[in-house]
Amino acid sequence: MQEKSSNKLLMVLGPTEIEDDVLSLGSLPQQYHRTPDFTAFLSGIFANLQYLFQTQNPVFILSSSGTGAMEFSVTNLLSNGERALYINGGTFGERWGDICRKHGVVTSEIKLSLGKSVECSQIEKALDADKTIKVLFATQNETATGALTDIESVGKVAKKHGVLFVVDAVSSLGVQKMPQDEWGVDVLLTSSQKALALPPGLGFVSFSERAIEKARVAKPKTLYFDVFEYLKDWERNQTPFTPPISLIYQLELRLRKIKETGLENFQNEYLEKTNYLRQGIKSLGLEFAADVFSNCVTGVKAPEGIDALEIVRIMDEHQIAIAPSPGNLKTKLFRVGNFGNINQPDIERFLISLKLTLHELGYKNG
Ligand code: PLP
Repeated sequence: MQEKSSNKLLMVLGPTEIEDDVLSLGSLPQQYHRTPDFTAFLSGIFANLQYLFQTQNPVFILSSSGTGAMEFSVTNLLSNGERALYINGGTFGERWGDICRKHGVVTSEIKLSLGKSVECSQIEKALDADKTIKVLFATQNETATGALTDIESVGKVAKKHGVLFVVDAVSSLGVQKMPQDEWGVDVLLTSSQKALALPPGLGFVSFSERAIEKARVAKPKTLYFDVFEYLKDWERNQTPFTPPISLIYQLELRLRKIKETGLENFQNEYLEKTNYLRQGIKSLGLEFAADVFSNCVTGVKAPEGIDALEIVRIMDEHQIAIAPSPGNLKTKLFRVGNFGNINQPDIERFLISLKLTLHELGYKNG
């Protein structure tokens, strides 16, 4: 854990506080990316990405945010008129539906109420009702509320029904257990600005052999996001298009650190900090938004009669950035992230500011 270079504490859901040694790599001189040296550098990154994803499948590097990696998955797997099922537990689950429909995919939705996690029986029912569904889209951590999906169990249902299983782990991969191969996930994706605690701008997506076979049939109608372009170049430890070199330097160090710490230790360190944060929030008498929580994203209900947006605004005056909730939840919930370089004193600073903020707004408990 390193000292902060700025006074404003980022406890949103990404971008995150970035360690200074990682940050400073962003100012190194650029280099040409097709040289043998850079190829060797990329080969270590690709190997460490497989470690992070816990997969033998290729993990592709995209110059995009998380939504780009979501769109990459849809456009490579599905053709116009094919059918897909998605789980909508909030903004990001809903995004699967939006992307699918843009690509002419016919969608079925399982809509969850606030903070709920999907039950396998709901998925069984939807897949039994429509045997033409080809792909199931899920979100490991619905960042809108912090609710966690049991990917291992859902993966078994997907396998039983023979559908491809795609998981958005943008706000969970790294901090949450998510072994792609063991849990039968065909496509797994994330991005740079959350658990990886890097600047935004990189997407990562891994395709199983089954997913690649399906893409052969779907024949992607895109060049920049064509999985076969990425596969061909991955095989020679390269990217098909010019990568953001500075981000690649930073990625290399971050992945190396995770590998050295060990994924399990890395996740446990996060869990410890998250538990500390949540105990503090609970001791103020506040309630959480989700039934089953993910690590690192905490959705908190604003107390009765207090506008969550006011809490976010006053916390900002205290030099702590937390996130409002999307859509019609914005006055009811606020969200706190402890991704990246957030340590115990930061959490204590957050808790003191939250207490002062709530008192300023007339809250009496805590
Ligand atoms: N999926 C989830 C679960 C997210 O939390 C986010 C962003 O917060 C996204 C997708 C979209 O990612 P991006 O904003 O990087 O496109």
